[in-house]
Amino acid sequence: MGEITGKRLYAEFRIKIEKVFTPENVAVIDKAFELANEAHGEQKRKSGEPYIIHPMAVATILLDELGMDMPSIAAALLHDVVEDTQYELSDIKELFGDEIAQLVDGVTKISRMNISSREEQQAETLRKMLIAMSQDIRVIIIKLSDRVHNMRTLQYVPEEKRRMTAKETLEIYAPIAHRLGIRAFKEELEDRAISFLDPVAYHDIEEKLEVQSTQRQEFLEQIKSKITERVQETVKDARVDGRVKSVHGIYRKMFIGGKNFDEIYDIYAVRIIVDTVIDCYNCLGIVHDMYHSIPGRFKDYISTPKPNMYQSLHTTLIGTEGIPFEVQIRTWEMHRNAEYGIAAHWKYKMGRSDRDVDNRLVWIRQMLESQQESGNAGDIVQDIKSDLAPEEVFVLTPKGSVICLPLGATVIDFAYAIHSAVGNKMTGAKVNGRIVPIDYTVKTGEIVEILTSSQQGKGPSRDWLKIVRTSAARTKIRSWFKKEKRDENIVAGKAEFERELRKSNIRLTDENMQKLTEILAEKHRQNSVDDFYAAIGYGGISITKIMPQIRDEVAKFQASEQPKTVELKITKPKQSGGEGVIVEGIDNCLVKLSKCCSPIPGDDIIGFITRGHGVSVHKRDCPNVPDNIFASPEPERWINVFWEDTGDKEGFNATLVISCMDRISMLADISVALANMHVMIHNVNARTTKDGSQHLIYMTIAVNNSEHLKSITARLMKINGVLTVERTNS
Ligand code: MN
Repeated sequence: MGEITGKRLYAEFRIKIEKVFTPENVAVIDKAFELANEAHGEQKRKSGEPYIIHPMAVATILLDELGMDMPSIAAALLHDVVEDTQYELSDIKELFGDEIAQLVDGVTKISRMNISSREEQQAETLRKMLIAMSQDIRVIIIKLSDRVHNMRTLQYVPEEKRRMTAKETLEIYAPIAHRLGIRAFKEELEDRAISFLDPVAYHDIEEKLEVQSTQRQEFLEQIKSKITERVQETVKDARVDGRVKSVHGIYRKMFIGGKNFDEIYDIYAVRIIVDTVIDCYNCLGIVHDMYHSIPGRFKDYISTPKPNMYQSLHTTLIGTEGIPFEVQIRTWEMHRNAEYGIAAHWKYKMGRSDRDVDNRLVWIRQMLESQQESGNAGDIVQDIKSDLAPEEVFVLTPKGSVICLPLGATVIDFAYAIHSAVGNKMTGAKVNGRIVPIDYTVKTGEIVEILTSSQQGKGPSRDWLKIVRTSAARTKIRSWFKKEKRDENIVAGKAEFERELRKSNIRLTDENMQKLTEILAEKHRQNSVDDFYAAIGYGGISITKIMPQIRDEVAKFQASEQPKTVELKITKPKQSGGEGVIVEGIDNCLVKLSKCCSPIPGDDIIGFITRGHGVSVHKRDCPNVPDNIFASPEPERWINVFWEDTGDKEGFNATLVISCMDRISMLADISVALANMHVMIHNVNARTTKDGSQHLIYMTIAVNNSEHLKSITARLMKINGVLTVERTNS
């Protein structure tokens, strides 16, 4: 019987592991297989095969393709045991110890994450995944192998699930493989994902590659032998390989880059692997001597490694028949890194390993840090998608250093990539000698000069956060605001916090306010209430996002202490804040008509949220109201207010300045007219202009509203000798 069983497969697998591992290690792997085989029992995969084939396949990928260590292999065998069988993590821990149990736990946690969910949830998932990765990178390597095998067998999965898994693979797992430098995984994941997501295009490309495939092979062979011949004259032990590039790479260039199949230069890639860096540059000279090179296609990733630490020289040449091909030149060590990335650490047991692994993990930490600073879950998804995007541009400093940035990066990203001090002092930028806007997107080959100012107090603008593309720049800008503007951030944050509470109709006693802010500070990992306010101020904590949490906390206080207040607020919305004024979004708040302009009903008015004295109401044209509120220092403090419809309620003060002829009984005539209209006079002052030509009477009277005032003014104007009647603000 040729039936596939776990035992039969394992027998073959065991021959391989015996060659690599000590008998003690083999025994652990044996034990892991026994447990997994027993635990999965009669379980079947979607393909109908016994389930144990899957963990076996994942372990085989880790062993054959990446050369991973014993704990990784054992954990791979056990990786679905906790998730899918009656065994618990504690069982694994007891039988295999902490290290293997932790790996299994990490993989289980990632498997439980639902990545294809709403963006916010997806972000939280990714954050957890990054944390798991930063704790032990082998977790994600096992998970990637798991995903590679799942993609290899995805045709058995129902259509909808298949598309979801393929999309998730393309958006999350392939970029992570890329970022970890595991080329083989990255390309396989991408190719397989595309074959499920866009089967028509995939097969079209495959076909195009298939047609003339003998011709292609011949072409590659011919170039290979020519290059080998010439190179070996000068460079010892050079190996020359040729290959056709991945389907996904071609797909991207055709469907995203909008290129024709024939326009794609790097369908063919020739790789030269040598012993030393000097040999790399020697080989470059040789191939450039042999063939014409295409301008602008040379990239020196040896002096400027890619963010995933990839190193190579790339150049595109034109073959004798006019067919372009790419040449990659690298040392063996660079080659191992390029193929296996972070996994090279285990495969080649490289001595300086720990630091090496550390460097590769920098981006994970950076991403976590960036997310922590922003507190915005959506950011991390964006960062993963953009930071991990394989497209890069290379930009030059005026001195000729090359800076590698993700596609779409702006001059601000460039400035921060040089140094945070350069970014923080940036005032503008020149590209190829010309001044460009601050949101200018840099392109490969451009020379970018950052203009800086040494002036104190200058710094990044908050708008830059919306412009930058890299999480590194975003993190640096945020930390500048965090550090440099602490005091301002505290004030701004506190004002915003108080305003949001008022908007949401939340009023607390000082004691409860203190309690609330302390709770919130702690929940958001801030050391003090001031830090909490500062975090709101620099945009680290989004107040609107945490509002539901605030309401929950407040509800707790109110439930226990102030049930009446709650009731009042619910039953009496839109209650006037006193003085006949309604403040938008806030009921029952303290309102004062400002003394500077003494608004009366009917006047166009606006409110200002004072620090601790409620809302003061001004006329729109009061000199104390900025012309452009949004350009004023505290735009968030200005708030819409409206006159309450009170009917004819008396008692608003208006001060009139009446210019009139200086004649006997003038003041008496005015007083009589007002008395006839039942207008109360609060205050009168009279004086003569310096040249003695005019008499000015300042009179503060009680009016009901602006209509009332108009009729009063009209009546006064009829008095003989009255020249003008104006309302004054003082
Ligand atoms: Mn699995």
